[in-house]
Amino acid sequence: MDVLEPLRLAAPTLSARTARADSAAHRAVMLSTLARLVAAGTAVSKADLVQAAGLARTTVSGGVDELLARGVLKLDGVRPTPGRGRPADRLALSPRGGQVLIADLGAHGAHLAAVDLSQRVLAHTHVDVEVTDGPEPVLDVVESSLGALRGSAGPVRALVIGVPGPVDGRHGMPVRPPIMPGWHGYPVSARLSRTFGCPVLLENDVNLRALGEARALPADQAPLLYVKIGTGIGGGVITSAGVLHHGADGGAGDIGHVRVRGGPDTQCVCGNVGCIEAVASAAAIARALGESVTIADVRALVARGDPTALGLVREAAGLIGEVVATLVHFYNPARVTIGGSLAAASDELLAGIRAVVYRRALPLATRNLVLANTVLGRYAGVAGAIVLGIEQALSADGIGSLMSHNP
Ligand SMILES: [Zn+2]
Repeated sequence: MDVLEPLRLAAPTLSARTARADSAAHRAVMLSTLARLVAAGTAVSKADLVQAAGLARTTVSGGVDELLARGVLKLDGVRPTPGRGRPADRLALSPRGGQVLIADLGAHGAHLAAVDLSQRVLAHTHVDVEVTDGPEPVLDVVESSLGALRGSAGPVRALVIGVPGPVDGRHGMPVRPPIMPGWHGYPVSARLSRTFGCPVLLENDVNLRALGEARALPADQAPLLYVKIGTGIGGGVITSAGVLHHGADGGAGDIGHVRVRGGPDTQCVCGNVGCIEAVASAAAIARALGESVTIADVRALVARGDPTALGLVREAAGLIGEVVATLVHFYNPARVTIGGSLAAASDELLAGIRAVVYRRALPLATRNLVLANTVLGRYAGVAGAIVLGIEQALSADGIGSLMSHNP
């Protein structure tokens, strides 16, 4: 999983100057600001931090010394300074700060990983689970496998879990997920938080992929839309600041149930007819190819260039392209990333979507638009979870537990 490193972490937007100088809350904001500026690569020395955080030299010096003493930061060589000054100590996130656990659940399996706060992947594995089995047996497997992965690499600072359905992130539970029977309202975050004794973030799987892609690319590739085309169809929205846009209730980007004109009136799992997911997903293509055709068969047929399967992929690409063209007009993204198992199987899908988008959308929305396949592939979700987990651990809320730990 070396391909994942290094991901861009967000620099804090809140200036430490705004909080009261004497309170514990101020101290947490100040330490979090310093650690996140280093994690984001915005600052690599005390002098950089004075400028970037807008804090007094003595405050920065004291804060950095504390972060070094607690094993949150480490010295990482020296950086020459202009003029005759003494070379400055280079600062970096320490691998001794603890770890973040990750579970990226798909319909039929989960990528699991343990990473340290410097983004080093300590261990990772893939387990077969069926989300249709319900939350108890699936989370039993996730918990025991993550327990084995975490090893002895220090305390767990955060856990991030992605699931293939809509979630209420605030309460840490899935909300009427169409392909996850039994998961509606199940307290996923509360359960995992009890097991691992750390904050738990629950996210939609496509949102995690969108975030991972955006942070593996240069900052000018946001705003970014991620469109996943696999068994189902989903989307994720990244703002120009490089963060996830959830919408009012967490449903932003869930494009699978947008109605397409001109497609067949196929019944969708959501109860409506003619949803893009019902007419243009890998599952829809499998149905069109015959009753006993599986998703794996579709991928294999497409990969080997079967003319009937490719014809169906082109038709699907046309319908998806219409939806993407509408989204491009609405959001004016710098980049649209196409991912998912159907995109991975053949370039026909991307080519077909591109053709429609560049034909349909107006020049202002497309003149700088990059429409490309995923750069991280199947590890995009894990990458997004790494970003969320480390940013949580270094947040003003999370940094307290790091500072109370003696390395
Ligand atoms: Zn639907």
